[in-house]
Amino acid sequence: MNLQIKTPIWTGDVDSKSDIIRSTGIVGSLRWWTETLLRGMCEFACDPTDNSRCPDGGNYCSSCLIFGATGRRRLFRIEINGGEKISFPGNGAINIKPSGRSHGWFFEPGVVGNLEMKMIPLDEKFDEVLVLTPLIIASNWGGIGAKTQLGYGVVEITNPPNVSFENFKRVLRNLSQKGKRQKSNEPGFPNLKDMFFAKVRFKANGNCWEKIDGLIDKSSKSRLEKEIRKKGIEECFRNNFLPIAPVIKNWLRYDDGSQIWKPKNGTTKGIENWLFGTIRNICPKCYNIVNPQNENGKTVYECQNCGQKFKKEEIINKCASKINISCAYKIGNDLWEIRIWGWIPKDAPQNFPREEFLDKLKKVLQTGIAGFLGNSTSDHKLAVWREYASKRDTIKEEQNFDNFVESLLRGTDDVS
Ligand SMILES: [Zn+2]
Ligand SMILES: [Zn+2]
Repeated sequence: MNLQIKTPIWTGDVDSKSDIIRSTGIVGSLRWWTETLLRGMCEFACDPTDNSRCPDGGNYCSSCLIFGATGRRRLFRIEINGGEKISFPGNGAINIKPSGRSHGWFFEPGVVGNLEMKMIPLDEKFDEVLVLTPLIIASNWGGIGAKTQLGYGVVEITNPPNVSFENFKRVLRNLSQKGKRQKSNEPGFPNLKDMFFAKVRFKANGNCWEKIDGLIDKSSKSRLEKEIRKKGIEECFRNNFLPIAPVIKNWLRYDDGSQIWKPKNGTTKGIENWLFGTIRNICPKCYNIVNPQNENGKTVYECQNCGQKFKKEEIINKCASKINISCAYKIGNDLWEIRIWGWIPKDAPQNFPREEFLDKLKKVLQTGIAGFLGNSTSDHKLAVWREYASKRDTIKEEQNFDNFVESLLRGTDDVS
């Protein structure tokens, strides 16, 4: 199977010596997509990084039956060939620095080009539909590999095979007739039913990026620095993508876009950590930072906001961003696309107004992104919004989950 890379695949997954993509990052993300799908089906999928992971009394969840766990081999192996690492001048990363940010973000080089992906069965029960289903959903609507929240990992499958969700479910049933771990999913884990997928399109002529704040740093003092950045962006442009995820994220997190999610009163830091993710230790109740303290020789973590104390195993020590924003990538003559997608759980903390947030986000994507894309872009529009059983879905408010998944697999998205 061949994949065309639309936005670079994160190079953390690249073997630095050979520049070949390691399959582990790709398989890890396919597992993540499978888990969201299983939870959407109301099937239990364990968190492989948590203490509650499989096995439990020798039984495994459906996700572990496919992807393996302690004492159980994965059903397949993936072999990836092709692609090449893009290279940027200077220190090798492009500093994206929108106005008002003192440091900005570093966009590191990833792999671009075309990939050949082979699935090698390691068990007679393996059926390609188990991998193709999450892969096609990810390639139609999200991304693969790591750091999709920073714009990496949009791929297009060349001549995607026809896959039906019905078939996926049938193969899954055969896989797990006995020894399947039965448990209900805890809230707080990604579920396809709570996800949204948006695509924004715009037209751009010429070197549109020269007008995008952040790609061109107006405040930068050093001419050399400017020149290095320009060369790096030109290299992206030649590869038909632009690293503007940090620019959009900056707008959403710190600028006008923050009106969409910021609570009108009270502290915003907890919601910010929860929504945009953090690598720091945070409070499981209010998502503010916790500090370790010594109490009678034991380490306890006290929340800076609510003051509650927690044991090490109770705190959240890494919170993934709920929102992923892709790089802009070219889909046609002068036509570009950006994906904005994510997972906003219904049991959001601090009474976060989920529905209001998604309403506002959809509304702003319909027109509001024109502002920071500069005046050499035009015809900005929300091409599609997909969300299970939601009025916001621009194709259909689909109450039947199976039909919803089938339509994600078909990928039809243009409403105009
Ligand atoms: Zn499991
Ligand atoms: Zn707290």
